[in-house]
Amino acid sequence: MAQRPERHVPQRSCIACRTARAKRALIRLVRGPDGAARVDAQGREAGRGAYLCATRACWERALSTGALGRALRAELSTDQRATLKAYAATLEAASSGGGGER
Ligand SMILES: [Zn+2]
Repeated sequence: MAQRPERHVPQRSCIACRTARAKRALIRLVRGPDGAARVDAQGREAGRGAYLCATRACWERALSTGALGRALRAELSTDQRATLKAYAATLEAASSGGGGER
C-alpha cells in the first residue's frame, strides 16, 4: 500500500471523450425523478448522473452518439435535446488546453 502525498481529488470521466478529470472541471448531468435529463450545476442532485467536459465538442458528441442517453439510462426527448444543445452552445467550442479559467 503506497502512501500518496497528494490530497485525493475525486475524478470522473467525461462520457464523450472519456478523459478523466477532477470532478469540478466537469459538468454533471442528472436524470431527475421525472426521467428528464438536466444540467446539475451544483453537482449534488440525487439521481443517476453523467459527466461531460465543459466543451461544446463533448456535448455534441454525447448527444449525437447517444452516449448521454445511455449513461443516464434515459430517453432524451426532442425538447431535452434542444435544451442541452442550447446549453452546449454557451460552452467553449473545445478545451483551450490549460488556458486557465475565465
Ligand atoms: Zn470530454
